[in-house]
Amino acid sequence: MKDKDYSKYFKTPSVKQARKRTFTEVSKEEYGVPTHLKDIAKGKKYKIQTYGCQANEADSENIKGILETLGYSETEDEAMADFILLNTCAIRENAENRVFGELGRLKKYKRHNPDLLLGISGCMPQEEKVVNKLLKSYPYVDLVFGTHNIDKLPTYIETALFNKERVVEVFSEEGRVVENMPRKRNHPYKAWVNIMYGCDEFCTYCIVPYTRGTERSRSPEDIIEEVKYLKDEGYKEVTLLGQNVNAYGRDFKHKPYSFANLLEELALTGIERIRFQTSHPNDFDEASVQMIGKYDNLMPHIHLPVQSGSDEVLKRMNRKYTKQRIFDLVDQMRTHIPGVSITTDLIVGFPGESEAHFEDTLDMVKKVGFEGAFTFIFSPREGTPAANFEDPTPVEEKRKRLAHLNEIINEGFAKGHKRFEGEIVKVLIEGESKNNSEVLAGYSEHFKVVNVRGDKSLIGKIVPVKVTNAKTWFLEGELVESTR
Ligand code: SF4
Repeated sequence: MKDKDYSKYFKTPSVKQARKRTFTEVSKEEYGVPTHLKDIAKGKKYKIQTYGCQANEADSENIKGILETLGYSETEDEAMADFILLNTCAIRENAENRVFGELGRLKKYKRHNPDLLLGISGCMPQEEKVVNKLLKSYPYVDLVFGTHNIDKLPTYIETALFNKERVVEVFSEEGRVVENMPRKRNHPYKAWVNIMYGCDEFCTYCIVPYTRGTERSRSPEDIIEEVKYLKDEGYKEVTLLGQNVNAYGRDFKHKPYSFANLLEELALTGIERIRFQTSHPNDFDEASVQMIGKYDNLMPHIHLPVQSGSDEVLKRMNRKYTKQRIFDLVDQMRTHIPGVSITTDLIVGFPGESEAHFEDTLDMVKKVGFEGAFTFIFSPREGTPAANFEDPTPVEEKRKRLAHLNEIINEGFAKGHKRFEGEIVKVLIEGESKNNSEVLAGYSEHFKVVNVRGDKSLIGKIVPVKVTNAKTWFLEGELVESTR
């Protein structure tokens, strides 16, 4: 298998460049695929493997939309594919190792089908060390592009397909907002809606500000138009996406417009359910909390990553808030949104986290009573400040802390289910339960998984369910009379 030459599309990432925050105005562009590229891949098939967060899920939906305008159709069978793309995540080391393992495994398909294109996109290619490794050890990877240039895919496919050249183009820039990219949504009833891209918080452990660029908000008009379109298309639920949705509108130069303003305008579109992620305790203002309490179609579930309960650790993480701020914010939420369900993200074993710091976290978790959490052991990311912090705590100790924390989190999880026993909850039925095709499954407004027996014609509908039993990981219920 002869290595391909590099094309003119050759640009590698620079963490120094990615750290810059200079520009003043977001450049908004309209997407358009050059006519001569339409259907250049007619009859060919693609397969995308998506790793990581909802932002990557949403990007994969755009990539699929673009590939299908080029004539590709989707396949789940990698042996049938003419283009295999790994859309990657850089948040933790083990996620990256898995991807390199996958590239190694997929090499065999190139022997059977030399015209097969293999590509990698997303956050990993935004890292210098990753691209250096790809150039050195993975010469059979045809396409390497990042988070800032998905809209250039038609040209890259043309180059790889017809010129048989490698494309390695990654921009370490602050970023643009490209509107109207084609999109193939993964779900028929609920949709991801990007409201902003990038992040300027620079938490010391996080690689996102370097891989996804600066904070750039889409215009409220474009977002409202998209949600109205989705409602008219029969979507029941939208989830607003951003690395820090509470910072929405902060980059607008011409008019003050906040996340609370956007929530109100979207609630007034009348779509049945609106969710959002990811929030930041430092920027979550009371106006947004009050808005969620004011409109029934703003869901009473808030995912609020707090990461730690120790003021010292929060400072070293550059999270810009204290334990007391978490308590005050949660009180506000419980005041304005009675019965609100709050979940979180927590990191244990951050460099320098002492036993006492960890106890602060446990104390905070118990006092707040989170109804669920994603919990992780700190993973150093090259290029971030925390990767160079002294870290004397042995990994066994960190594992013990994680296990201890998960016990308390699971108690909160179970309590968060128990409180719904005997209640009637509204459930968006999404399909058959994973464990039993006789049973339907969906999510309640408080983002609880609910299993209920019923006719498959209820799939895609929001129905009232009486909760009969709270299991550890889900609720069991029965359809309320009128729905049967
Ligand atoms: S706010 Fe979130 S995405 Fe932004 S730097 Fe912090 S952890 Fe990363």
